[in-house]
Amino acid sequence: MIEKDPSIRVRFAPSPTGMLHIGGARTAIYNWAFARTMGGTFVLRIEDTDQVRSTEENTQIILRAMRWLGLDWDEGPEAGGSCGPYFQTERTETYQAALDRLKESGAAYPCFCSKEELDAKRAQAEASEGGYAGYDGTCRHLSADEARSRIEAGEPHVWRLAVPEGHGPIEFDDAVYGHMSFPAEAMDDMIIQRTDGTFTYNFAVVCDDANMGITHVIRGDDHLSNTPRQMLIYEACGFDAPTFAHLPMILGSDGHKLSKRHGATSVEEYRDRGYLPAAMVNFLALLGWSLDGDTTIIPEDVLCRSFELARINRKDSVFDEKKLDWMNGVYIREMDADAWTLAATPWLAQAAIDGAAVSPGAQVVPTPTQEEQQAAAQEARVPGAAVDAQAWQRALADVSDRPGFYRAMYPLVAERLARLDEIPAKLAYLFWGPNVALDQKSVDKVLLKDAEQAASALAICREVLAGLEGDQDPDAAMQACRSAGEEAGIKAKQLLQPLRVAVAGNMVSPPLFESIQLIGIPDTLARIDGTCAAVLA
Ligand code: GLU
Repeated sequence: MIEKDPSIRVRFAPSPTGMLHIGGARTAIYNWAFARTMGGTFVLRIEDTDQVRSTEENTQIILRAMRWLGLDWDEGPEAGGSCGPYFQTERTETYQAALDRLKESGAAYPCFCSKEELDAKRAQAEASEGGYAGYDGTCRHLSADEARSRIEAGEPHVWRLAVPEGHGPIEFDDAVYGHMSFPAEAMDDMIIQRTDGTFTYNFAVVCDDANMGITHVIRGDDHLSNTPRQMLIYEACGFDAPTFAHLPMILGSDGHKLSKRHGATSVEEYRDRGYLPAAMVNFLALLGWSLDGDTTIIPEDVLCRSFELARINRKDSVFDEKKLDWMNGVYIREMDADAWTLAATPWLAQAAIDGAAVSPGAQVVPTPTQEEQQAAAQEARVPGAAVDAQAWQRALADVSDRPGFYRAMYPLVAERLARLDEIPAKLAYLFWGPNVALDQKSVDKVLLKDAEQAASALAICREVLAGLEGDQDPDAAMQACRSAGEEAGIKAKQLLQPLRVAVAGNMVSPPLFESIQLIGIPDTLARIDGTCAAVLA
C-alpha cells in the first residue's frame, strides 16, 4: 500500500502549438496517475506564450484529447482553482513581479546588446578554438547609472539573469535519473524578459511552478537541459525547487525518436483508428513505467493506486503498435455490449452505410490481394468523413434508435477485433438487405468446386430456414439445417460453407446463424436466391 500525501501537486503543461501527441499524453498520464495514487492535485496549465504558434483551437483539441483519455484535472481551464489563471498569457503580472524582485536584489540586469552584435560575437566565437560559450556578459558590468540612463533614453533591452560568480555545480536529484550535476560555468546569463516585454519559457515555467505550489515536475527528458537553468532561477527568486522526474524518450520501431515519420502521433488519430481510451492509457502508461515488470493489463483503478515515480525506467521505450493492437483487443473483449455499442457507434454507422451501398442482387467481387487488405487496414479511416451528412446522421440515429440490434453484433465480433475501425469491413454484410457481394475466391472454392452439391446444400438450407417460425434461436436453426443435411447425406461443412458464402459473401465470417438472426429470414432467403441465380444457375 502506497502511503498517500495530499500535499503533492503536479502539473501537465502543454503548449497549444499543435495537437496532443503520444509523448505529451504519456507525460499527462504519469502526472495524473501520480496525483491520483498519492491523493494529491493534478493541475493543467496551458503554456500559450508562443503567441505565433499557439491557438485556441489547439487548446480545445488538447482538452478534448485529455477528456477522451479520461484524464480529469483538479485545477486548470474550465475546472478553475485557487492558483489561476491557468493560461500563461494571463499570468504576465506574476512574472513581472518576480522580475521586479530580481531587479531589486541585483540578480537581473538589463542588456542592450543588439541582435546583430550578439550574432557577430557568436559567429566569431564559433570560428575560434574554444567555440561559443554563451553570452559574454558585456552588459553585466555596466554601472547602475549608465544602465538607468540608457533605459530612460528608451534604448531597447532585454533582462538577463546574473548567474552568481563562482557558483558551484548545479545539482539535483532526479526521481528517474538520480543525482545530476551541471557546471554553472556552462550556463550563460540567460534572457528572462525579451525586448518586447514578453518572458522566456524557463522564467515563466519556474514562476508558475513556484506560484502554483508544484511539488513534482514530471516531464519529458527533452527538458533535462533546461532544468539546471531553471534551478538557477529558483535560487535567484528564493523559491524552493520541486522534485524533478524526467521521462525517457519514446522511440519508434526503428529505434528513432517517435515522430510523424512513424505514422499517427496525435492522440486523436488513435481515437479515429478505433483504439479505446482505456487501452491507450494502459499502453502509454507502460511506455517507461511498470507495475511489477510483468503485468501488462493494468486498468485505470489499479494504475491510479499504484503509480510510483520509483518504477519509471531510465531506458527509452519502444512504441510497439502490435502490442497496442493486442491490448486494444483485450479491452474490447472485456467490455460489455452496451459500452461497446456506444464506443463503436461511428463505425457501426459506417458499416450500415457501406452495407447499404452494395448493389442490388448478387454480384461477384474480386478478392482483395494481401497488399490491398494491408493498405486498407493501414489507411486511418475516419468514419463519416466521405459520406454525405444526412446519410451519416441517419445512420448514427439508427444506432441509438435500435440499441438491441447493434448490441447483438458485439458477440459476433468481440473475439475478432483489434480495433474498432475494423468494424465496417467485418460487419457491413449485416446491412446488405436482400443483396450480396460475393467474394470471388470463396465462390470458386466453396460454390463452384462442386456446384451441384453446393446447389443442393443451399436448397436444403433454404427450405429449413423458410420453414422456421418467428424468431428462431440460432442454435436450433443450425441443428435443423444439419439434420436436414444429414438426411440428404451432406456433411455439416459441405452444407454450411455454401450457406455462409451465400449469406455473408465470404467463407470467413462471424458466426453464421447469429448473423442470420440479425439479417432476418426474408433477406437471408433473398441472398440465397440471388447467389444461386448469379453463380449456380
Ligand atoms: N510547455 C512545455 C512543453 O510543452 C512543458 C514545460 C514543462 O513541462 O516544464 O514542452
